[in-house]
Amino acid sequence: MTDNFAIKNNKLTQYRGQEKIVVIPEGITEIGKNAFFRNRKIKKVILPHGVITIGNNAFAGCENLTELNLPDTVQNIGDCAFQNCQQLTTLQIPNSVINIGSLAFNKCASPRDENGFIIAKNIVYGYYGTKKEVVIPNDITEIAQQAFCGDCNITSIIIHGNVSRIGVSAFHGCENLKNVEFSEGLKSIGGNAFCACINLKIISLPKSVSKIEQGAFSNCYALESVDVQSDCLDLDAYIFMCCKSLKSVRLPNGLTSIPENTFFNCQKLSGVQIPKSVVSIGKNAFWGCESLENVVIPDSVTKINDFSFSYCKNLKIVATANSVAHKFCVKRNKKFAIACTSCNTYNDDSAIFCHKCGYKLV
Ligand SMILES: [Zn+2]
Repeated sequence: MTDNFAIKNNKLTQYRGQEKIVVIPEGITEIGKNAFFRNRKIKKVILPHGVITIGNNAFAGCENLTELNLPDTVQNIGDCAFQNCQQLTTLQIPNSVINIGSLAFNKCASPRDENGFIIAKNIVYGYYGTKKEVVIPNDITEIAQQAFCGDCNITSIIIHGNVSRIGVSAFHGCENLKNVEFSEGLKSIGGNAFCACINLKIISLPKSVSKIEQGAFSNCYALESVDVQSDCLDLDAYIFMCCKSLKSVRLPNGLTSIPENTFFNCQKLSGVQIPKSVVSIGKNAFWGCESLENVVIPDSVTKINDFSFSYCKNLKIVATANSVAHKFCVKRNKKFAIACTSCNTYNDDSAIFCHKCGYKLV
């Protein structure tokens, strides 16, 4: 019978048998990746005490598996480990588990609470409930990567203040998601977390948010306004890329950089104030923002990439004479207006004295 098991250094690398009930030998500490992948014969698997790791895809696609015990020695559950185990209703996650990979329980019948959440150690890993308006349970501290990815059923989500992190692609492609309520306490938003939420219109982030990762709100085609009212000074690239309805954004004071591609192809963007703390404007930051008209670039900006404002056909940059922004406009042949630092009016680029207050501009 042991011939059924390919074992290498206490790791079960493959199960070759035809049994319906499989008893895994004592001494095994790891179920290797793909060990039972798409085994449609097995109905019950008994894991010995001592198993620490369940590899990626280890039981994925075991369509007839109904019963499996996870001993309280298991610490790691790999990506997609139980994906598509649609008959596996009895699985429970022991307290020993530390890491759960992405999509580990995707389309798996368990573990689920009465509302359809897959939860382990206060982290939501998935949702299979029927409600369209979802409230994250109170004891949850994190929404794992891809937890709601591609869920086209949900229309609103309330995230209370105990949640400090929203993982990578957590709500990616939730096409009918219209309302997201964030709460004070949220600290970081993972890459592509709300990418392609094409019905999301308004975002207001709480002050506690300190990090937004790459592409977090990219391709949100209906998104019209964003208020990053927080002291979030750590913005990655591509955050609002291709948000083609985005009209206005309030950026946080203290921000030092507008990273590359931040507003790439935001065709409707007309209202943006660059905070007086910004030092650099990255490549393609405002590429194709054809509704941008007057943008005031403060003297704090010392670095503007040659392509920061490409294809902004209606743009006029407003800055002080001889500033980095002024030199950029001369070099890149952009329309320019001189800002009067005394009365805040704009003067055309040949003015020497302010037309309104007479202040010397050059
Ligand atoms: Zn003036």
